Amino acid sequence: MYDSTHRGFNPIEVTKIVEHNIASVTADDEIIRKYYRFRPSRFYKGSATADTTGCNLRCVYCWSWKANTKMLGDPYTPSEVASKLIKIASDYGYSVIRISGGEPTIAFNHVIQVVKRLNEFLLQRNAMFILETNGILIGYSKEFAEILSKYRNVAVRISIKGCSEEMFQKITGADATFFNLQLNALRNLLDYGIKVWPAITISFCDKEGLARLLTRLAEIDRDIIEKIEFEYFKAYPSAMKRLCRNGLIPWISVDVNGGKVIKGDEFRELCRRIFEKENH
Ligand code: SF4
Repeated sequence: MYDSTHRGFNPIEVTKIVEHNIASVTADDEIIRKYYRFRPSRFYKGSATADTTGCNLRCVYCWSWKANTKMLGDPYTPSEVASKLIKIASDYGYSVIRISGGEPTIAFNHVIQVVKRLNEFLLQRNAMFILETNGILIGYSKEFAEILSKYRNVAVRISIKGCSEEMFQKITGADATFFNLQLNALRNLLDYGIKVWPAITISFCDKEGLARLLTRLAEIDRDIIEKIEFEYFKAYPSAMKRLCRNGLIPWISVDVNGGKVIKGDEFRELCRRIFEKENH
């Protein structure tokens, strides 16, 4: 159960601080935003990808922890971002363009300005723009969903953190009461007819928690269950150390180097070895 004596942080307040550090406005009302890389990626059978920097959550297992917490990267105008993504998509023959990161909905108008500049390319190529988000801000402001709905070839992937309020707080550090915003984001996007699907990292969910979450998702939309992406924690060394230090043990994870499955007890043993090494 959620323990209200130990409150987490407020991600809406964190958003304001992060936004101040990673975005600025030009005299022409263009929103410049920081990114830490642009790349071709294998996801969605090949996609041109821009990775934003800065996030309103602090997931213990975040694979871009350093870039997000230190807000590393360089500022780009919406036109620069759109041209880089179009170039990658054209060079590699991709029909998917995505912005990931980091939390791309921070400095929301920037993403919209990018989509506007991508729109002609998307329509001509029948390509998709996928916004990968933790859903907090779209759940908080329905207006964001309304604005996105103006663009036809846009889809949203919401990465749901934890299967319950309690696990959400343990994973993200944000207060458990904000868990619901992720589900709200699904509602808001569906209300505006936007293609959306959830991703769940099941490594931190117990059976009951997952069953409850699936029931809640089915209550939002019966068809959504079939669209869920189930993910496992990928045991990158730095993320592993953070999990061990926080006593957050995934019941199943995948070793990124050996491609081997690591179960809970084995993970505990690896944590023990990490601590042993650190104390020498
Ligand atoms: S929401 Fe994503 S980018 Fe943000 S801290 Fe969590 S894993 Fe990292």
